Amino acid sequence: MRDISNHMPTAELQALDAAHHMHPFSTQNTLAQRGARVITRANGVWIHDSEGHQILDGMAGLWCVNVGYGRDRLADVAARQMRELPYYNTFFMTTHVPAIALSAKLAELAPGDLNHVFYAGSGSEANDTNIRMVRTYWAEMGKPQKNIIISRKNAYHGSTLGGASLGGMGGMHAQGGLPIPDIYHIDQPNWWAEGGQTDPAEFGLERARQLELAIEKLGEDRVAAFIAEPVQGAGGVIVPPETYWPEIQRICNKYNILLIADEVICGFGRTGNWFGSQTVGWAPDIMTIAKGLSSGYQPIGGSIVSDKIAQVMAACEFNHGYTYNAHPVAAAVALENLTIMQEERLVDYVSTDIGPYLKQQWESLVDHPMVGEAKIVGMMGSIALTPHKESRAKFAAEAGTVGYMVRERCFANNLVMRHVYDRMIISPPLVITRDEVDILIARARQSLDEAMAQVKDAGLWQAAS
Ligand SMILES: *Cc1c(COP(=O)(O)O)cnc(C)c1O
Repeated sequence: MRDISNHMPTAELQALDAAHHMHPFSTQNTLAQRGARVITRANGVWIHDSEGHQILDGMAGLWCVNVGYGRDRLADVAARQMRELPYYNTFFMTTHVPAIALSAKLAELAPGDLNHVFYAGSGSEANDTNIRMVRTYWAEMGKPQKNIIISRKNAYHGSTLGGASLGGMGGMHAQGGLPIPDIYHIDQPNWWAEGGQTDPAEFGLERARQLELAIEKLGEDRVAAFIAEPVQGAGGVIVPPETYWPEIQRICNKYNILLIADEVICGFGRTGNWFGSQTVGWAPDIMTIAKGLSSGYQPIGGSIVSDKIAQVMAACEFNHGYTYNAHPVAAAVALENLTIMQEERLVDYVSTDIGPYLKQQWESLVDHPMVGEAKIVGMMGSIALTPHKESRAKFAAEAGTVGYMVRERCFANNLVMRHVYDRMIISPPLVITRDEVDILIARARQSLDEAMAQVKDAGLWQAAS
C-alpha cells in the first residue's frame, strides 16, 4: 500500500477518490469527471484545500462545527480518553464516567423535565430510536395501535430507513422502498414557495392546522407523535410565519400526542438559545440531538427524553441499542465541547452580538435583484432566488439550476454556501467574527452578481408560467 497523504498531487488524490470512495448524496460519475475538492485542514471558520485555497465555511461543515475548527482542547480530551478507556459498552449493567457526566450536563442544559438521554452515533440513528421509543411508550400504556408518526413534507430527519421515512424528501422516498408504514406527512410552512395569495400569518395558521386535521382524520387513538425541526434546515432553512409555532404547540397540547423536536441543527446555540424549541416556544417530549453536540469532532447523537416517557420506558426492557451508544471518546469530546460553549458564552454571543449582526447583513441581501426573501434565525439563514420578486416567481429552468450556478460561483469565490433547489443557505460556525461575516456577505454578493450575469447570458432569466 502506498502512503496516501496531503502532499500528493490533487489529481492523483481525486483519481483514487473516484476509483474507491462512494460519496453520499452524489452522482458518482459527475463527481469523478470534475474531481472532488480535497480538504486538507481547517482553523476557525476557514477550510483549506489541496490547491492552497482558503475557503470561508459558511455551513460549519454540515451544520455542525459550532465552536469552529482547530480546537486543541477537543483533540487533547479525545487523546486522553483513548488512553484511559477507548471503548466500553453500556449494555450489560455497566457504565462509564464520560456517559454519566455528559448525561448530567445535558439534563442540566435541556429545558423542562427533559432529563434522560439515550445515545446514538448520529442524528439518523437517534430518530430511529425515537420511532421505536414512542411506539413502545404507547404500547406500554396499553395503546399499541397508537403508532402513527406525523411529520412534514420537505422535512429532514436523517438517512437511515427510519430517519428518511420520517423525513419528507421525495427523492429519498423514491429509492429503497420508503417510507416505512405508519408515517404520515402534512405540508410544510413554506410561505414563499407555497403561500400563493394567502397572507403569511393566515398561511402559518393553515399549515399548522393541517396537523389538527390529520389527527382528526387518522384518529387520536392512532397518532403517537408529531416530529418537526424547529426551523427546517436541509429543506432550505424554511422560517415559518410567526403564527405557526404557537398553533403547533396548542394542537399538541389539545390532543394526547407526543412532540418530538428534531434539534439536530437547531440545538446547541444555533438559534440563539441552547435549543431551537426555546426559540420557537415549544415544550417537546423528546429532543433529537447530534451535530453541534460535539461540534462534529466526534460522531455522536441522541434523544433527550422527558420524565413522563422515561418513567414508562423504565418499567420495560427496551430491545434497542447500538454498539457505540455513549461511546466514551465521543461523549468526552461532546462534554468538553459544551464546556467550551459555556466558558465562551457562545449562546449569548449568538443571541446578543454576532446573531443580530449577521441578521442585519444577511437581510441586506434582499436588495439584490435576484433575491426575493432573506430569512434568518440565529445563525441559520436562507435567501430565495427569483427572476421576479413581486410575484415570488420560480425560474422556468428546472428547479435547482440557478441555485447550482450561484453555488458554483460561491465555490469559485472561496465561500461555502449551499443551495437547496433555488434557495441559498448558510449556517456558519457560531464563533464567526464580524469581520468574517463581512467577508461572507461580500463574497455572497459578488457570487450572486456573477451568477445573475451567467443566468442572463444563458437565457435563463425567465419566470415559470
Ligand atoms: C443532519 C440531520 C439529521 C441526521 O443526522 P445524521 O448525523 O446525518 O444522521 C437529522 N435531523 C436533522 C434535522 C438533521 O439536520
